[in-house]
Amino acid sequence: MECREQHLLIHSFLDGDIDELSNHRLQEHLRDCAECRQYLRELQKTVALVQSLSHVCAPSDFTNRVLAQLPAPSGMN
Ligand SMILES: [Zn+2]
Repeated sequence: MECREQHLLIHSFLDGDIDELSNHRLQEHLRDCAECRQYLRELQKTVALVQSLSHVCAPSDFTNRVLAQLPAPSGMN
């Protein structure tokens, strides 16, 4: 099975909505494929980070301030 398909399964796995058969195939693939193991680790780190951030109460204008700091899109005028 292609790694790209495994990546989709990894997303389902982290979402907790993977079915038994797909989970079995994913675990088999992860055993043989260092690339997909790495991908899973990276995603798990990201999930853990987001979850730890969600415990912090962000100021209500946090998103706006982040957006304001983004460079203005070029070539729009
Ligand atoms: Zn793979």
